[in-house]
Amino acid sequence: MCVLYPDLLGTYGDGGNGLVMAERARRRGIDVTLVEVGIGDAVPVANLYLMGGGEDGPQRLAADLLRLSIFGGAVRDGAHVVAVCAGLQILGETFCIEGNDQYEGLGMVAAVTTRGERRAVGELAVRVGTNLLVGFENHGGQTSLGGLAPLGTVTKGRGNDGRVDGYRTKNIWATYAHGPVLAMNPWLADEVLSSLIGTPLEPLHTAADLLYRERCRVLDS
Ligand code: GLN
Repeated sequence: MCVLYPDLLGTYGDGGNGLVMAERARRRGIDVTLVEVGIGDAVPVANLYLMGGGEDGPQRLAADLLRLSIFGGAVRDGAHVVAVCAGLQILGETFCIEGNDQYEGLGMVAAVTTRGERRAVGELAVRVGTNLLVGFENHGGQTSLGGLAPLGTVTKGRGNDGRVDGYRTKNIWATYAHGPVLAMNPWLADEVLSSLIGTPLEPLHTAADLLYRERCRVLDS
């Protein structure tokens, strides 16, 4: 498992998504190596890549570094990706940086991010099938999907455009939610892990799982 550029794409503790994935795998007896890729490091081949949020400048640098790396090929070959906010934007065709300039993304999905009229800052809740995804958002970009399937439907906050959040392909889970999102939504970590190993998983009963149920209870009341 590989956390990509936590020094560029690591706002709001998004690097913690890697720790959550590795720990939930280990608790199922799955041997995991977790690596963090820094600026200047070669991106290794991995089963899972984790990308977090970032400010506009660092986000642009991360896109440039990834463009020169094996990342695109590894994902085309089936590596899984969990991408948050800036990570979500970078995988798309273009994204908007300071001053409204369009900048080229990696073109791995059809998503296009432009500048919203105002920043989206606050709580974010998203219905994903039978699950609720909870977190918070802080971004200037708004994303259109160009036919790509969204991750879910927004019930609170803005996500991509006030209606849907993120996107989902066979091997990519993308969302605007920080938290870190996999600490706040253990079911999503397990969905990704289950897809990686190809079998269903027994539930865990960690403090994170209990807190998740408590958050859903409060949101439902
Ligand atoms: N820089 C991007 C934006 O403002 C992403 C922000 C983030 O990752 N939190 O839209």
